[in-house]
Amino acid sequence: MTEINLEIESGATMEKVALLDLSLEELTEYLARLGQPAYRARQIWEWIYKRYARSFDEMSNLPKVLREQLKDEAILYPLTIVTQIVSQARDTQKVLFRLPDGQTIETVLMVYDKRRTLCISSQAGCAMGCTFCATAQGGLARNLSAGEIVAQVLFFAGFLADPEAEPQMDLERPTAVTNIVLMGMGEPMHNYDNVWTALRRLTDGDAFGLGARNITLSTVGLIPMIDRMAEEGLQINLAVSLHAPNDDLRGQLVPINRRWKVDDLLAAVARYIEKTHRRVTFEYALMRGVNDSPELAAELGEKLAPLLCHVNVIPLNPIPDSPFQPTSDEDTERFVQILREHGVPATVRLRRGIEINAGCGQLRQASAARRAA
Ligand code: SF4
Repeated sequence: MTEINLEIESGATMEKVALLDLSLEELTEYLARLGQPAYRARQIWEWIYKRYARSFDEMSNLPKVLREQLKDEAILYPLTIVTQIVSQARDTQKVLFRLPDGQTIETVLMVYDKRRTLCISSQAGCAMGCTFCATAQGGLARNLSAGEIVAQVLFFAGFLADPEAEPQMDLERPTAVTNIVLMGMGEPMHNYDNVWTALRRLTDGDAFGLGARNITLSTVGLIPMIDRMAEEGLQINLAVSLHAPNDDLRGQLVPINRRWKVDDLLAAVARYIEKTHRRVTFEYALMRGVNDSPELAAELGEKLAPLLCHVNVIPLNPIPDSPFQPTSDEDTERFVQILREHGVPATVRLRRGIEINAGCGQLRQASAARRAA
């Protein structure tokens, strides 16, 4: 059972049970230790996963004395809002959350015509060190627990379902989360067990109940974990952040490439496709003068042509003071066209929320900079 150390006013710490980290069986065992019957666990479970309760006071069918006991002993909801902002077009919302130990993470909601897509974090910070990424700059603070991953989804599920929820966005409520991408802060494969516990909770019809095919896990390419994912039996989509077609360039942009080379990574993806018969997405963030030449597009097209795949070309979200800047629209189109000429399906992903620091890790970085100023 996961317990969270909380600082209390005296400076001492006390441990509280993190309810979102528990399975239904574990929740039932926990309540049994409090002298409660099994149906109480089921009631709490429904409040969490079907009604998105964020406080014990909302659980109106629990006895008051139990609610008070739970407040003393357990944490229902591990996230506190630090900053919550909406883009000018009111189609993107980004929240910076504080975790119980003071770490911060980001989650983004993007509203499309029919889809409401969440981009969630799997770690506080990231150890992968990609040179163009704001999250990389602070390194890895720690893994998120399964409950902290799930909580990001429950927050926005509650937001979308509530007609009164602020801030207002460009949508008619009630509505629901339709898609989840693990492309926020962190490398999901580097926190494999907690991420997969969270994914099972999110896809379990008895819990959150989102279809696995509506969830995408994005990795920079931890090969042993791609092989492991192929065995999981859940139809979660795999996306691989490639960003360069050869080791010379990828080694500069994505340091993990020094350990797992491009050709070995593509071989792992081929094994994954053979095993799952599922199409894989390659993410390619186009950076002006770095990885956007026609020659690199042709090299990428040749390497990906044999694979059942799709390339998402992403105009880079510029980081202040970074040497990496987005490719022009014209050069982006040319890059995509060359991939298509090689028989590789490719599309340009819409860039959202530039003015709200929607790139991975940028809001957290801006917040840290404000605190340091
Ligand atoms: S791009 Fe992703 S994997 Fe790379 S450092 Fe940033 S968060 Fe980590």
